[in-house]
Amino acid sequence: MLGLMQDWPLLLHRLIDHAARHHPRREIVTRSVEGPIHRTNWAAIRQRSLRVAQRLARDGIRLGDRVATMAWNTWRHLEAWYGIAGIGAIYHTVNPRLFPEQIAWILNHAESRVMMADLTFVPLLETLAPNLPHIERYILLTDAAHMPASTTLPNAVPYEEWLAEADGDFAWASFDENTAAGLCYTSGTTGEPKGVLYSHRSNVLHGMACCVPDAFGLAARDRVMPVVPMFHANAWSLAFSTPIAGAALVMPGAKLDGASVHQLLEEERVTFTAGVPTVWLMLLQHLEATGARLSTLERVAIGGSACPRAMTQAFQDRYGVQVIHAWGMTEMSPVGTLAGPKPEVAHLTGEAKLDLQERQGAAMFTVDMKITDDEGRELPWDGKTFGRLKVQGPAVARRYYRREEEILDADGYFDTGDVATIDENGYMKITDRSKDVIKSGGEWISSIDLENLAVGHPDVAEAAVIAVPHPKWGERPLLLAVPKPGREPTKEALLDFLRPKIAKWWLPDDVVFVPELPHTATGKLLKTKLREDYRNYKLPG
Ligand code: ADP
Repeated sequence: MLGLMQDWPLLLHRLIDHAARHHPRREIVTRSVEGPIHRTNWAAIRQRSLRVAQRLARDGIRLGDRVATMAWNTWRHLEAWYGIAGIGAIYHTVNPRLFPEQIAWILNHAESRVMMADLTFVPLLETLAPNLPHIERYILLTDAAHMPASTTLPNAVPYEEWLAEADGDFAWASFDENTAAGLCYTSGTTGEPKGVLYSHRSNVLHGMACCVPDAFGLAARDRVMPVVPMFHANAWSLAFSTPIAGAALVMPGAKLDGASVHQLLEEERVTFTAGVPTVWLMLLQHLEATGARLSTLERVAIGGSACPRAMTQAFQDRYGVQVIHAWGMTEMSPVGTLAGPKPEVAHLTGEAKLDLQERQGAAMFTVDMKITDDEGRELPWDGKTFGRLKVQGPAVARRYYRREEEILDADGYFDTGDVATIDENGYMKITDRSKDVIKSGGEWISSIDLENLAVGHPDVAEAAVIAVPHPKWGERPLLLAVPKPGREPTKEALLDFLRPKIAKWWLPDDVVFVPELPHTATGKLLKTKLREDYRNYKLPG
């Protein structure tokens, strides 16, 4: 028997319809790419999104077509997303920080027909355009007055003038809620980039899930600043959860340095913000150097890579801002777990509280998770046993765009590629990437734990631990360390430093000092390259 409730497909336009009708005057403030602060509101954003939809339809963009965006967080980028999705086309966010060859590969794989780009990226796109045969037109997210004097981009038009040709007398298209809405490729450290194809339904459900109090806890009184870019993993869903909550948005545009971020946080009275540790490092350094305060900020969500303990401590103890450590990935829309306090742990203070916040957190609704061994057997939640972390949910990928391979296990779970423990209260802690974990005599050694300990040595700037083949144990850990400028640590000093902190068999078999370590375009250690470089390394003994 079917329920007797109304048919109301979960389409993205519902979100801005809601915000425009019930929170019409809530502000959307942007530090524009051109420079000045720009102010609008949800009612106006909806009107202009309708015009984007109408204008794209007139350009012949249809259901299922890909429209690429390479843009900072601005009101125009926001309108573009809703306008594109509003006719059943697909916003395809392109990360400008990827290597140029990767960007071209991604755009050609997606066969995106239109590129909407910020002025910042015109030089990059001009070099790529001859190799992007599918892109028919470049819409530059600016007005005629700020257009470059000349550009080689085919059919380049200023967004404002292009948009002015539509009057907004238009209705959102209607289609099934499982229709594709967004496309984002994961850079990955190996192989070709993989496209994650979000649906209207997955984005709406994920946006709602992110709002609950133990997740981001967004309310209409919040002023939300997504520092995490819209081109990175759906901006952690903030473009969807803010209209659901009816919150105000503060968009930082192209300037993400400590001083610029601090200025917006203060002048725009931001209460909630979110981003990766790197941007918060820059902000905290700015606050240290200037003695400035954070007078309105209440909560900061930190994820993308592990939030260092010292960062949590600085935000909470020195600036009175609550840290929400979060974990997720592009394939998960992207949020999976958050380290908010359940009643079982709410009494914790001091170091014990920081221990908890160092964990990546508990699953939010719409996400289930488990840890398994290599054979797929589920492992206990004891906070010690670590295994492959697998997830399931309506906003988790089940297949990559235009790829045939199965990516779910027999129970329908997606292997995240992370290795983790889960404790008895359901708090997950990442201990490694599955391809980086060191398998020594059948037991697993966490490369991340060893790296974190090694950088605790006063003479070490950065560290990487990789597996090197070993005749008896299968693999053994090798520590690669970058000394701090002017320091000359020794192998013995480093091993002596680690020895009391770890199990005996975790101690690296050797230490190599290197001037620098290789990184991916998004700043993560490129361990594939290191493993390749040290494949034939002879361990002592
Ligand atoms: P990219 O490598 O392109 O940045 P993602 O943003 O999807 O791709 O990266 C997801 C991965 O980032 C996760 O699988 C995990 O390894 C890592 N990650 C994300 N958040 C955290 C966190 N809070 N702590 C540790 N690792 C994290």
